[in-house]
Amino acid sequence: MPFEVLQHELDTRAAQGLLRHRCSLQSAQGTRVKVSGKPLLSFSSNDYLGLACHPQLLAALQMGTQQYGLGAGASHLVSGHFSAHDELEHALAEFVGKPAALLFSSGYLANLGAVQALVGRNDRIFADKLNHASLNDAMLLSRAQVRRYRHNDMAHLAQLLEQPNSGRKLVVTDAVFSMDGDLAPLPELLALCEQNDAWLLVDDAHGFGILGEQGRGSLFHPADSDLPGLVSPRIIYMATLGKAVGVSGAFIAAEQVVIDTLVQNARSYIYTTASPPALSCAVLASLRLLQKEEWRRTQLWKLIAQLRAGLIGLPWVLMYSDTPIQPLLVGNNNVAVALSETLRTRGIWVPAIRPPTVPQGTARLRISLSAAHSEQDVAQLISALHELAH
Ligand SMILES: *Cc1c(COP(=O)(O)O)cnc(C)c1O
Repeated sequence: MPFEVLQHELDTRAAQGLLRHRCSLQSAQGTRVKVSGKPLLSFSSNDYLGLACHPQLLAALQMGTQQYGLGAGASHLVSGHFSAHDELEHALAEFVGKPAALLFSSGYLANLGAVQALVGRNDRIFADKLNHASLNDAMLLSRAQVRRYRHNDMAHLAQLLEQPNSGRKLVVTDAVFSMDGDLAPLPELLALCEQNDAWLLVDDAHGFGILGEQGRGSLFHPADSDLPGLVSPRIIYMATLGKAVGVSGAFIAAEQVVIDTLVQNARSYIYTTASPPALSCAVLASLRLLQKEEWRRTQLWKLIAQLRAGLIGLPWVLMYSDTPIQPLLVGNNNVAVALSETLRTRGIWVPAIRPPTVPQGTARLRISLSAAHSEQDVAQLISALHELAH
């Protein structure tokens, strides 16, 4: 039976220190969680603004279920599209300065749908080597020709773009790289796209809500500039609603004609049940909060500076990052896991991230900060890491 083959594959993975495990939370997501009956101080979630269990979101969800019930009951193009979805799409488009937006059930599905709907066999995709797995899978699904450029290497991208091809061109990039926390050079990317008549798909899963004025996202970063943001019809903007926004789902914002095309062609939009409309009510509440409550972002910047200053002198390299994603590069898979486990015994949860999520030899602790952390929380992590280093 092929079961033995499967077991052998699992055993091999385990021997390499690559077996993944799930932890079941017995509490709400937040900086204090309960796992296996044990309270943990968590630096492990993407709930960067601490909104995932905010009372106003829960109240909006409840109001939403009173009006719309729970299940959407069908896909958007059959009978599962609700006025709450419309209202949210309009709000999102306006917030990020685009003519139109389209909701998807997850960021993974948004990337699959957008790439597959916009390019095909005769077209060419140019992708950063450190892009999120969902973008990589989207490229495969689209059947387009794929050219990967070295991480943030604009000279390499320029060289690839200049090679002749007759089809459409699409450059795809994370705006904030999900396992490194660094930023893509969006103005330079856009300039190259202008020169080569290419589209630019920006995946802002980790920038939306965090970067830019009022949290409008990476197109509006830096927030204190007088610039209006990166405005171009070439930019196809994607962001998720399950990270800083604290709910679930994702959206693509772009020119109306792009959105209309997605509605007709994006298979991951068409052939799936719409997300519960009440979730859109919760996202709307979250958008209002995250725009208004600038203190959440201010608190994040403060904690980031505190952590970075506090971790100087460790034997592991704190990778360069100005975002709430602060990766501590360990290298060896087993060492990364052992560090993560030792922190756990001290009541601190920092996940170890291993290949294939990150390149071979770059296993790391991915420290995620949240506006809901206190300075004492961060101080506790700093001293635990210094003690482990001895
Ligand atoms: C999390 C993430 C996604 C997927 O979004 P989900 O809503 O979790 O499916 C896509 N791209 C990047 C860069 C991400 O970090």
